[in-house]
Amino acid sequence: MSAAPAARELFASSFGREPDGIWSAPGRVNLIGEHTDYNEGFVLPFAIPHRTYAAVALRTDNRIRVASSFARLTVECALEDLAHLFPVEHQGADRDVPEWSAYVLGVAWALGASTGSAGEAGSATRFRGVDIAIASDVPVGAGLSSSAAIEGAVASALNDLWELGLDPVTLAQVGRRAENEAVGAPTGIMDQMASMLGQEDAATFIDCRSLETRSVPTGFRDAGLEVLVIDTQVTHAHSTGGYRERRESCERGAQLLGIRSLRDASVADLPRAAEIMDDVTLRRVRHIVTENQRVLDTVAAVTEQGPRAIGELLVASHASMRDDFEISTPELDAAVETALANGAIGARMTGGGFGGSAIALVAHASVDAVTDAVQQAFAAAGFTAPHLFTVSPSDGPRRDV
Ligand code: ADP
Ligand code: MG
Repeated sequence: MSAAPAARELFASSFGREPDGIWSAPGRVNLIGEHTDYNEGFVLPFAIPHRTYAAVALRTDNRIRVASSFARLTVECALEDLAHLFPVEHQGADRDVPEWSAYVLGVAWALGASTGSAGEAGSATRFRGVDIAIASDVPVGAGLSSSAAIEGAVASALNDLWELGLDPVTLAQVGRRAENEAVGAPTGIMDQMASMLGQEDAATFIDCRSLETRSVPTGFRDAGLEVLVIDTQVTHAHSTGGYRERRESCERGAQLLGIRSLRDASVADLPRAAEIMDDVTLRRVRHIVTENQRVLDTVAAVTEQGPRAIGELLVASHASMRDDFEISTPELDAAVETALANGAIGARMTGGGFGGSAIALVAHASVDAVTDAVQQAFAAAGFTAPHLFTVSPSDGPRRDV
């Protein structure tokens, strides 16, 4: 069953009535610009056709109830109790609600529902209780940002039902706040912006410092190109371990260079960096600095020369993540190498790393050959069978019903 009817069905079985509407938001892949977002740098993601759906109805009281195809039990609390649940750091490590529900409740909290200002702005629906049922066809933990998709779907629904009138960039910031402070995952703004600003056949260039964005037509469709996602099925855990360590290395590097963030360094600063920092920090810094440049170069190349011109930049990005940032895995490296050896124009791991997915830019006629080759290479290496599918740049959030 596709996820839209699944959300409606889950709503009916969980809450015994029909939803007021169904809202959805897409996952994303990042074409290029990895780990640059929290360094106030540049990214170039696009929204994908896979979406998360939120079936939602207002209630007459102030309760919020949440159901997901992820969990057997619904989660419930009063809107004003959200302030006691979040932010997480006020509670210590223990959260009182299951992690998946914190994405949904966190969005309600970040929208201001816990301040108890119901009715203040004259709207009869503002911050009234809601029932929410979630279903998704975005693979979870695959680097395709199922988290931004769930945040975007819920934020869009509540923005409409509560008549808040917030714009997409503000809703992206609400999603990020939920993820950072309610879930406790220290992620940047890229995922939410990519989901909220998705457009058909265009990527979104984001300056993560100013939050200025620009739609960058990819021309993939006219050039007969597909983006093949190779989900390695190795899941990652963003909120722990390597991701946090990389962030700390970047902060240390910026501090040593005497700048606010690595956004303020350029390739010309790398020789000086080499003199004042240890090898590991230097390599982390070098990845961010060169990756920012590659994003700018990709925008220029795709705009001036067309999509086939970005292949080498994708390959260089992967090498930088593998060797300098050290966030690739044997599975991701095999996916990239096999795709390139079988006709891909470019390929790289995408997302936070330590698992998840790679993407390959492939001519339509080569998709089957690359897919077969990757499957064979994984089998020969004894890796878990990967999941391969094509995506194209797609629209952002919408009300479906
Ligand atoms: P990614 O965003 O790369 O898929 P994350 O770890 O950032 O991975 O987010 C995945 C988490 O988001 C899940 O573990 C779950 O807590 C939450 N989530 C995503 N989709 C859903 C869903 N359909 N229902 C409930 N929770 C979801
Ligand atoms: Mg995520």
